[in-house]
Amino acid sequence: MKNKGVSNSNTMFEIRHQFYELMVSKSHLNFNHFVSELARTIKEATNASSCAIYLINEYTDSIQLYGKNTPSEGCDVELEPNNIGEWFSQMADQKPLGYGQVLYPKKADTLIYRLPLQIENKNYGFLLLTFLQEEMIYKQLEAFQDISSETVRVLIKMRGVLGILNEEKKYELLYRVTSKFHSSIRMDDVLKEIIFTLQQIYPEFEYHLLLSQDDSIHERLPVKIISYEMEDSNHASTQAYLTGEVQIEDRIEDKRSCLYAPLKGKQGIYGVLQIITPKSVLFPEKDIEFISLLANTAGNALENARLYQQSKKLVEDLQLINSTSQRLNMNLSLSDTISYISKQTVESFHAEEVGVILYSNDDLNYFELQKGSTSFFYSTEGKRFIEFLNRQLEQQKEGIFIGDFLAKFPSYPFDFQSVMAIPMIQEKRMVGLVIVLHHQSYYFSFETFKLLQSIVQHSALTVINSMLKEELEQLVKTDYLTKLFSRKYLDESLHRHMESGDQGAFLMMDIDDFKKVNDRYGHHVGDQIIIQVAEIIKEHIAYKDVAARWGGEELAVYFPDTTLEEASRISERIVHTVSEKTEPGVTISCGVSFWDDKTKDQVKDVFIRADRALYKAKESGKNCVKTQNDLGS
Ligand code: GH3
Ligand code: MG
Ligand code: MG
Repeated sequence: MKNKGVSNSNTMFEIRHQFYELMVSKSHLNFNHFVSELARTIKEATNASSCAIYLINEYTDSIQLYGKNTPSEGCDVELEPNNIGEWFSQMADQKPLGYGQVLYPKKADTLIYRLPLQIENKNYGFLLLTFLQEEMIYKQLEAFQDISSETVRVLIKMRGVLGILNEEKKYELLYRVTSKFHSSIRMDDVLKEIIFTLQQIYPEFEYHLLLSQDDSIHERLPVKIISYEMEDSNHASTQAYLTGEVQIEDRIEDKRSCLYAPLKGKQGIYGVLQIITPKSVLFPEKDIEFISLLANTAGNALENARLYQQSKKLVEDLQLINSTSQRLNMNLSLSDTISYISKQTVESFHAEEVGVILYSNDDLNYFELQKGSTSFFYSTEGKRFIEFLNRQLEQQKEGIFIGDFLAKFPSYPFDFQSVMAIPMIQEKRMVGLVIVLHHQSYYFSFETFKLLQSIVQHSALTVINSMLKEELEQLVKTDYLTKLFSRKYLDESLHRHMESGDQGAFLMMDIDDFKKVNDRYGHHVGDQIIIQVAEIIKEHIAYKDVAARWGGEELAVYFPDTTLEEASRISERIVHTVSEKTEPGVTISCGVSFWDDKTKDQVKDVFIRADRALYKAKESGKNCVKTQNDLGS
């Protein structure tokens, strides 16, 4: 049973004491919770049916019910009077609200009293108390005045105390963000934590992350990608980005305030945190400081993630250079080296077309497309484009990097918009060119260009070495005068074939009375005659046959997989043609030998028999062919 009546209500002294108890007794979770408790205390102390405390919220610029205490039974009173808006505008105009009974009780037996909460002409809100007619005790206005002024004092004090607690809470959250930052490499996680923290502390605000570059993250994050152009430099967000200072903007059009905090790392500014308030407000210094701290944490997170990405890319690039150099050091042939470079370029840079050319004699007009180049370069258009690049290279010796070909060369109709062309340079000589193409504009980054440059530079030496090696090999196996193979090469060919093949014939030739030719026409003409004979030999033999200069005016041919008869017939024809066609005219004598599996011959046996047959031909009056069958035993 509830006691009613004067005797049960509290004196002001007791009420103050209860307020004090309330202030010190509990650690209040937050200000809202404290106000609720305060409403309960007032309700009980005044024996009211219910008590509600309305306070002005400065951020949202509105009046808000903070604490309400109604009993579970007996009193069902409307505590949100409909003229509340009127009261609020009165308070906003700094006019004091009066004390008094609110004149619209829904139930005839219920009274509502409004107690303004104000101190030194500043309005904080008001307090509503409801009484049933019979319970009405504190109807004396003086007592109400005491209660309301005591309530304001307590509220101000507790707002301060809880504000400090709130600060602690903020820094606790900041600590959480920072530890997240240190434990996660994912920039997304850090940004999410920052937005989450802000939403907890300032739930009324709207947040956006204005980033200058898309780092392809931000799932479910309020990110806007913007470009900070100089012409926009008056805008507060641009100012924040450029100066690194927090900027505040009052938006007249929608009566909202915007705060722009730069996301600052150690090396730069990565974007701006935008905070929009629902009403125009004045941001307290402390809040600005806190928001800046969070924004800087975000800036550091972005910086870290970007540095991480960069170093990962660098490691990948180094791995590519490393594996390329390793491959290039494997002593590949020229065509294998070029094929490898071309394959690597397609794979590593996702190029659509790759062309590798080598220049001859230091002249950009003479170039040869290398095996391993892709199909475009074999087309007429491809060849025309290489010639075009060669002309460009005369001015741009360090290479060509184009992101938007059409914009740069509007008069050159070309399908590929991204073009990279990197010369192979050896001792200041341009020996070759690697060309890389893609249809899409700006497909290759400048970093890619730099990387390709270093790969091409690495491979230039290998390419040149294999070129020299191949030239040398060619030199060794050909005779400089006749361009027939060298004796050494023929010797090796015969060796090889005697190991793997079944049979073959060998022809040895000597120009008749050559001393006399020399004596008569001179050595130079003599040389020309040797060349003429060599040409006649080439005309009579097959691709597989190996013709060589045996020495001096002696020439030889090895016919693999050929019978003695067949080789003799060819020799006869050569003898005949030489006698007919040479100018000044000469004749030759031939000796032909043969080997097969049955003979168990050595290479030298084949040579000796041919030599003896040749001797026989000389003996027989020259200008004729003798075979090993003519030797007798
Ligand atoms: P034969 O019919 O017996 O072969 O008489 P020949 O005069 O040709 O005698 P032989 O083959 O023994 O002599 C080769 C001569 O060919 C010696 C040399 O003066 C000449 N000779 C050898 N090599 C060259 C060469 O590269 N150029 C020129 N012009 N003459 C050469
Ligand atoms: Mg001779
Ligand atoms: Mg001779």
